[in-house]
Amino acid sequence: MERTALVRSLSCSSLACNRFLFSAPKHSRSFLSKSPSAAARYHRRVFSNRSILRRNSWRSLPLAASSHSSSLRFGFNNRHFGSLSVRAVASPPKDIAGAGDEVAEKLGFEKVSEEFIGECKSKAVLFKHKRTGAEFMSVSNDDENKVFGIVFRTPPKDSTGIPHILEHSVLCGSRKYPLKEPFVELLKGSLHTFLNAFTYPDRTCYPVASTNAKDFYNLVDVYLDAVFFPKCIEDFQTFQQEGWHYELNDPSEDITYKGVVFNEMKGVYSQPDNLLGRTAQQALFPDNTYGVDSGGDPLVIPKLTFEEFKEFHRKYYHPSNARIWFYGDDDPNERLRILSEYLDLFDASKAPSESKIEPQKLFSEPVRIVEKYPAGEGGDLKKKHMVCLNWLLSDKPLDLQTELTLGFLDHLMLGTPASPLRKVLLESGLGDAIIGGGVEDELLQPQFSIGLKGVSDEDIPKVEELIMSSLRKLAEEGFDMEAVEASMNTIEFSLRENNTGSFPRGLSLMLRSIGKWIYDMDPFEPLKYEKPLADLKSRIAEEGSKAVFSPLIEKFILNNPHCVTIEMQPDPEKASRDEAAEKENLEKVKASMTEEDLAELARATQELKLKQETPDPPEALRCVPSLSLHDIPKEPIRIPTEVGDINGVKVLQHDLFTNDVLYTEVVFDMSSLKQELLPLVPLFCQSLLEMGSKDLTFVQLNQLIGRKTGGISVYPFTSSIRGKEDPSSHMIVRGKSMAGRADDLFNLINCVLQEVQFTDQQRFKQFVSQSKARMENRLRGGGHGIAAARMSAKLNVAGWISEQMGGVSYLEFLQALEEKVDNDWAGISSSLEEIRKSLLSREGCLVNMTADGKNLSDSEKFVSKFLDLLPSKPLVERSSWSARLPSNNEAIVIPTQVNYVGKAANLYDKGYQLSGSAYVISNHISNTWLWERVRVSGGAYGGFCNFDTHSGVFNFLSYRDPNLLKTLDIYDGTGDFLRKLEVDDDTLTKAIIGTISDVDAYQLPDAKGYSSLLRYLLGVKEEERQRRREEILSTSLKDFKEFADTIDAVKDNGVTVAVASPDDVEAANKERSDFFQVKRAL
Ligand SMILES: [Zn+2]
Repeated sequence: MERTALVRSLSCSSLACNRFLFSAPKHSRSFLSKSPSAAARYHRRVFSNRSILRRNSWRSLPLAASSHSSSLRFGFNNRHFGSLSVRAVASPPKDIAGAGDEVAEKLGFEKVSEEFIGECKSKAVLFKHKRTGAEFMSVSNDDENKVFGIVFRTPPKDSTGIPHILEHSVLCGSRKYPLKEPFVELLKGSLHTFLNAFTYPDRTCYPVASTNAKDFYNLVDVYLDAVFFPKCIEDFQTFQQEGWHYELNDPSEDITYKGVVFNEMKGVYSQPDNLLGRTAQQALFPDNTYGVDSGGDPLVIPKLTFEEFKEFHRKYYHPSNARIWFYGDDDPNERLRILSEYLDLFDASKAPSESKIEPQKLFSEPVRIVEKYPAGEGGDLKKKHMVCLNWLLSDKPLDLQTELTLGFLDHLMLGTPASPLRKVLLESGLGDAIIGGGVEDELLQPQFSIGLKGVSDEDIPKVEELIMSSLRKLAEEGFDMEAVEASMNTIEFSLRENNTGSFPRGLSLMLRSIGKWIYDMDPFEPLKYEKPLADLKSRIAEEGSKAVFSPLIEKFILNNPHCVTIEMQPDPEKASRDEAAEKENLEKVKASMTEEDLAELARATQELKLKQETPDPPEALRCVPSLSLHDIPKEPIRIPTEVGDINGVKVLQHDLFTNDVLYTEVVFDMSSLKQELLPLVPLFCQSLLEMGSKDLTFVQLNQLIGRKTGGISVYPFTSSIRGKEDPSSHMIVRGKSMAGRADDLFNLINCVLQEVQFTDQQRFKQFVSQSKARMENRLRGGGHGIAAARMSAKLNVAGWISEQMGGVSYLEFLQALEEKVDNDWAGISSSLEEIRKSLLSREGCLVNMTADGKNLSDSEKFVSKFLDLLPSKPLVERSSWSARLPSNNEAIVIPTQVNYVGKAANLYDKGYQLSGSAYVISNHISNTWLWERVRVSGGAYGGFCNFDTHSGVFNFLSYRDPNLLKTLDIYDGTGDFLRKLEVDDDTLTKAIIGTISDVDAYQLPDAKGYSSLLRYLLGVKEEERQRRREEILSTSLKDFKEFADTIDAVKDNGVTVAVASPDDVEAANKERSDFFQVKRAL
């Protein structure tokens, strides 16, 4: 997902957390998996992946499972292909009903065109609303995960972040739903499978999804009312809260800036990769709307006025400027009825011509830009430069065939660690990790970018030269047949599988279609890939791959003068200089104010706070439609699981329809591993896949995996088990292939596990520097995850192990390891061998398989053969991993403008007995108390709590938070909040339904099988799930009150970890004498 995280603005990539979840990822790029994150790259309204973070918590299992499937090696989710197919949706299409033409006509719509799209087994009809010109795609099929989306073209003309602030604000109350945040009510109390909003550089997108029809239409109505009739255009305070405002609590204090988007963007601008991506985009498009930041530059956001804000809504949030999408198995006529109710209230406007995106003309000369980014003081600054080459490929949009071929070329050059451009850059030793996202075609004109970070000052010209010479070489020599075949198989596999992870398939199709539709092109065309793919295949077969790809490299890159080279220099003073400048600016503002002004500002600050903290009246809350408890199934979703035995090894089988794909996990017990080897495990996993064997170089091994399977990944998994001293600690090998290739799949898993040799010192060294770069990135962009891991490491053994393999301790380990690779490679190599010896044994093995019954039984013989080859050895005793980190309060100091603040304690230590009500309560705390205090009035982008029911650790976390100690006070107030809480039945029902919506999260078959495996490993039985569900459904106010004393354990005995800016930590330590022990990490 993260191709764009590397380049652009990904404000909160779920991958950041995803990666944290599964410890070290295999490689730092994922040019492939664009579709599910297509939207994630830009700005989302909420930091919605908080549940993904809850690694070990009760509900994270489904999410973890599905989100993993979008990880790099796993699957080709390239937008070019991946989002196109819904083949695996279900059995053959029934007679799919389309909207009746008469109904459409009567409701004021005109049918523009209609097609059956075989690729997604859908009937798609494009309508135009006659009165306003609103366009509407009605896609009908048998997918129960229904999707609605409305998209407006919203090109900004400056970097004040209007589109982004508007995206946040329209969901803060509307005509029919006049409460503070209907969005939050939906988040709390609906069965949505997706709910968010995104801002792109030129459009704003409001999607919802649900499998429950009644729930679905509720969501649609709230969204339609929100975009067309929001309160925010009359309500200055919403603008202040979501956008920016001056805050002054007392005239004697300093004025500060507050605002949710303001802080979200400060966080974005604290990340060097994001800064680089923004600089590149703006430099590539100096003359059109992409030359400014739609998300908002923190320096420019405070220039935005309320008038401009209102005008932007009036102009662009109009049906004439809207594109609307419905998808799924609901009644197409109902869709028309719903829309006409809204659209008929408007007349046509000039918006479509005013919002048109003008193309950027091509340069005649290349451009070079040098920028500074905020760096820490530690480490060798000389080696922290970044350099990236960027091309604008064309002065107009490309045709689909060319785009598809470019996507293929992108995969060939950069798609896997074995891809030539990627390989040569990493092997050069000139930098730590790849930056730049390869081909990017989500905007009007396609781009290509590639570069390195962790580069020495003097090596920058060498990197540029290496990129150019490698591209020239590829154009001259072409690609290996094996590589082309591997890419082709990966792409075709992905098409058939159509695995969008936790992202609804209908949404991924919508984003694909919108990518062209938004520019007035055909919305059907991007959904149809069969013919262009077949054409591409036959061209490659007839003319050879060189004839197909070389001209593209030459035309679009080598002979293209529209090239922007960006060099980013580390500047250890930048963060504090920026902060000082902001402070000075605010002091000037204050100095210019009269005493009355200041009193007025303090009064306005109070008024806003009061408004934010006053709950909505019950009658307002009741107007948000909600399901009743009768609509909720009484039983948990059961996953078919058969526990059997092959050659004495436990085998779990899940008979599910997977469209002929076999998914498998081979699990090895890690508990006998020596403690000091734990931090090496992630690198061990990477070595298995990227080191090569006696007979195969790593390139050959990778190509073989690409040609024969849908991907193999290896990673450690650790969690506490409730009621047990010892944690669950395993290495999981995950693989998938067409069922007919099960033999190849298990042979390759065997090869990876047994035949790979740990001999390549140079490659290992690259793994270390890549991992280090990744950890540093995670620290800046996902500090909440780092804080959570650190707190767990202080509270339990499983947490300690995970932190050794993915937290600050791991980063420290990597820093030390870099030198050791040079001095003691033999030692490291034999440690890797020792890990293999310790893990690989039939006795400690477990196999999990998901496919339909026949494919499962057909695969058994290959499993059996695979197990025969595993060494057998008596179970050794568990290693005693009794380690924990000291339980002091820590501040991990990094160069940033925003903080991540955490506090946690183990509730089981205080004698708490788990009940399902705890899920409802912690959900409610997140959605009300923390949302209102940490986000709405505190100005952080996110604030939430998690309860890991396996370990008992309850933690509070904030995300991109301007505060530090204040946030801790809010956490400490949670017990009192619960004690004073009054909830009516309605609110309680919503809290329960919202919790069920998490528990019943929508899953594709592979995720179901994986969840079932994790439950097995963690000893969660069906009876328990049933009991928890009953407890959730019968949660009462009394449970909330009782939980108050339990949660006070965090206040009284909790441990605090913050990832924060040096200035804020220093101030905090002054205020509360040396509260934090300071640790410098970057
Ligand atoms: Zn946002």
